[in-house]
Amino acid sequence: MIDYKNELKTLSNNRKNLYILLARFFSKEADEEFLKELAGLKLPLDRKENEIVGFKAALERLAAYFEYDAGESLEDLAVDYAKTFLGAGQAQGVAAMPYESVYTSSKKIVMQEAWSDICDIYAAKGIEPDSGEDKILEDHISLEMNFMAYLIEEGLEMTEMLPSLEEQKKFINKHLLNWLPSFCIDVRENADTEFYRMAAELVSSFVRMDAYILDRIINDKSGGIVSGASYKCKTDELDKVLAELKKSYRVYAPKFTKDAETGEETDIVRYQEVDSVSEMVLDKQSDFSPKEVIYPISQTIFSFDENGVKETTYKDPKGIVVFARACDINALKRMDNIFLSNGGWSDVYYKQYRDRLKVFLIECKESFDKCYCVSMGTNKSEDYSVAFGFNGDDIKILVKDVDFDNFFKDLTKADYTPSFVEENKLKVRIPSITKDNMKDVFALDMWKKYNDECISCGGCNTVCPTCTCFDTKDYLNQENSRRGERRRIWSSCMLPDYSKTAGGNVARKQPDTMMRFKTMHKIYDYNARFGGSEHMCVGCGRCINRCPEDIDFSNTINTLAEEVDKLEVK
Ligand code: SF4
Ligand code: SF4
Repeated sequence: MIDYKNELKTLSNNRKNLYILLARFFSKEADEEFLKELAGLKLPLDRKENEIVGFKAALERLAAYFEYDAGESLEDLAVDYAKTFLGAGQAQGVAAMPYESVYTSSKKIVMQEAWSDICDIYAAKGIEPDSGEDKILEDHISLEMNFMAYLIEEGLEMTEMLPSLEEQKKFINKHLLNWLPSFCIDVRENADTEFYRMAAELVSSFVRMDAYILDRIINDKSGGIVSGASYKCKTDELDKVLAELKKSYRVYAPKFTKDAETGEETDIVRYQEVDSVSEMVLDKQSDFSPKEVIYPISQTIFSFDENGVKETTYKDPKGIVVFARACDINALKRMDNIFLSNGGWSDVYYKQYRDRLKVFLIECKESFDKCYCVSMGTNKSEDYSVAFGFNGDDIKILVKDVDFDNFFKDLTKADYTPSFVEENKLKVRIPSITKDNMKDVFALDMWKKYNDECISCGGCNTVCPTCTCFDTKDYLNQENSRRGERRRIWSSCMLPDYSKTAGGNVARKQPDTMMRFKTMHKIYDYNARFGGSEHMCVGCGRCINRCPEDIDFSNTINTLAEEVDKLEVK
């Protein structure tokens, strides 16, 4: 068994060192010593947690920078540093000013509210302001990152680390993630050198990964201790395990739904609670994704009456177990980014479900017809507690999370590691959209055909495991209009009302602009926002199966790739 305390110490030391190292990119121009340090790093490319939010891809980019000489001299880097971070020789608004105040104040200038907040935080820790000649303001990115290293160091000296971990998480959310993603987008767009564009990707993916890891450590009592025991059993044996599990967890899996009126079973497969293996639909892809388990279609967020407002809290003492395929586990990472690491705030309504969630992997024996997960890099996942290989009555199991050891320990020991689909019939090629060709991409004729084909039903968004938009609606008590509740309800960017604003203006009136918006979101915007190599679409193909007009989203992506190629040769 792994010594959790020591694991946590090593992890904290690694995190601290990375904050210090990454802060150096921005504190002053790169010099020979810093380049040497970067080139000599032993990069932990195979660590599982690095896959989160694209940090692994950023590390690979760093390795490639030194492996294939980028041809950038120290002078090039110094010129780019001055241009990008100090705005030297630049018109206003075309640099990436590395201060929180610039990104969070309405005037977009330094020494605003965020800066004064940061000064107070440093003062409370007894950190003296720098009064030297080269003084940089306290909310400079390098100082905020060094402060994270300070907090981690402080936590390492405490016997109980939890309060420090909470403090670190709060600082990341309030003072790094609230501006860093936007700052890093500006760096990627304004820097001339690969060195600083790469630095932006490294920092933005690292901080988001760190927020994710902290969240997991704080909320997961087991702290990610890995078991690694594997077993085999028959369905009746697994049914007994499920019965035990259900005492502590609500167990969800794909299951045929019943018609609400007749009570008869339909052929629609959705995620519902199950009692036995025979209820699970394993030979067919679920029509709806598991997202509805932790992000309900309609959720009351608070109720109100004459006396005030009462926020809805999740009170179910049971945890949640969801059986999911690799693409859907990858989709969960996208949802985590959107709800937990976007703009510095965690969505409390999502978080209360997410904190209780444990994922059980369903191994895919082969690809379904409309999947293109391999093209999207979502055919594999290691982010699960227990993996299952179902083969009729024979079931193989790998338990990774010790929280579940007790449930499976009496089954017959076996040798099992899940395998993943390596090829799909459907393949997509992601178009190379940039800031420079985006206007032309928007003007492409290809979008127009959707005005004839798409009926704006929104079905594609409903089944998509990564669509997360919602609307809020107030429902008033029929007898007392001062009582009621506010619900958030799934919305869809393919519905005309989605882009309706106050005054009645509809920004995207026709399916062509809606489809363009959705496509850009799935294969460009998310990646531009969160970096790394991941796109929002995980290639599950559900939207293709769902569309009543037979619109194939893989065709949309491939056609767009061809059209973008043509733009390039013009
Ligand atoms: S294939 Fe369609 S449903 Fe699946 S993730 Fe991509 S856009 Fe969403
Ligand atoms: S499911 Fe098809 S018809 Fe309906 S909004 Fe999506 S693309 Fe349009």
